[in-house]
Amino acid sequence: MNQFDDYVKALDPDVRASVRKATTNVARARERALSVLFEDAESARLRAMEVKSHVLDNLRGYLLRLEERCVHNGIVVHWASTADEARILIGELCLGAGGVGETVVKAKSMATEEIHLNEHLEGLGLEVVETDLGEFVVQLDHDTPSHIVAPIIHKDRHSVSETFQREGLGPQSSDPATLAGQARDFLREKFKRAKVGISGINFAIAETGRLVLVENEGNNRLSTTAPKVHIAVMGIEKVLPRESDLPLFLKLLAGSATGQLLTVYTHLIHGPRKAGDLDGPDEVHLVILDNGRSKVMNGPYREILRCIRCGACLNACPVYRASSGHAYGHVYSGPLGAVLGPALEGVAGVGTIAKASTLCGACEEVCPVKIPIPAMLLKLRSELKQPRAPWLAFQQAASSQRAWSLATASLPVLSSLPNPWTANRERPQRQGRDFRRWWDERA
Ligand code: SF4
Repeated sequence: MNQFDDYVKALDPDVRASVRKATTNVARARERALSVLFEDAESARLRAMEVKSHVLDNLRGYLLRLEERCVHNGIVVHWASTADEARILIGELCLGAGGVGETVVKAKSMATEEIHLNEHLEGLGLEVVETDLGEFVVQLDHDTPSHIVAPIIHKDRHSVSETFQREGLGPQSSDPATLAGQARDFLREKFKRAKVGISGINFAIAETGRLVLVENEGNNRLSTTAPKVHIAVMGIEKVLPRESDLPLFLKLLAGSATGQLLTVYTHLIHGPRKAGDLDGPDEVHLVILDNGRSKVMNGPYREILRCIRCGACLNACPVYRASSGHAYGHVYSGPLGAVLGPALEGVAGVGTIAKASTLCGACEEVCPVKIPIPAMLLKLRSELKQPRAPWLAFQQAASSQRAWSLATASLPVLSSLPNPWTANRERPQRQGRDFRRWWDERA
């Protein structure tokens, strides 16, 4: 945890304040929205949990059905077992559509962040432009997203304005509408020029082969309809059985993620443009990504695959609020990342981020699909190699009354000695009187 602790210790207080304010506001908005959206939000969460669990229990069948319906609709379906396979495949599709030097516009997608797609495409000589406003700022600053829903939760409008001025997008301004206008003017030219648009997917409906995307800025609409080729990337767990499941998930996602009753845009993509359509791509490709998910499906962290990437657990987590997403050092941060990161990549690699939690249970309380995150964090921690010596000392002290009395009597002296735990934390001060002495006196 040293890396995490060191990051938090060095964190700019303004960044911490930005993250705390934004997460607190969204958490409040979530409560309001869910109370308006559902007569009984708890039952809605339960229903969503059941649907997603049913999908995981029958995943192979639903994915094959999805493939069949997509092909019927004219969507080309590709399967990628690993990040490498997905990157190579998408790179070939992009080069096939335009060639070196062409522009690729991208809508926000955690799956493509996960496979580090941008670096690969840029390495092939393509110009990759993020079109979600937050992701666009992240890209200009050579930064990484700090939140799965709000990538620049760690920045304020003044730093965004500095970035835009530095990149020649327009004069300095603290007016959000002016800044949005500067980004819009810049990106509009990229949309006009791009031959390929890449997006993620929020849900894919097995029954109809429909791809569902939600957003608030309109950049997804342009990324998926203006270029002649649209490539959608989804993890295998994004499938939903029926169209009739969609309203529940659209409401839960919007309410939990941003406190909205519904996102501004909901796109239902049925396939490429048909004769007579005024716009739309000539080709739609769907890349279905595994990248470790099958392994997770068969292990103790299977339930994390119910996640719909709403970010509510990040907003509710006291550790995330005090540290920001970058502290986790992984594409997925917060309670979700503390489970999904090690589940996908192995405990030996990034398992220590499972310690970045107080286990207060706030994440599970807000999760729209009721993922038992604290229990999984405990399981992950048990898989980590624990330093044995302190626990053996505790075991010895706790197993005899005499040793325990001696240990507690010497605690003030022992705890004043330098040790790794207090290197990054405030030393708790003993409060009040000694309980045993008080008890003996009372007797
Ligand atoms: S784990 Fe639950 S609360 Fe966290 S992002 Fe996923 S669905 Fe949302």
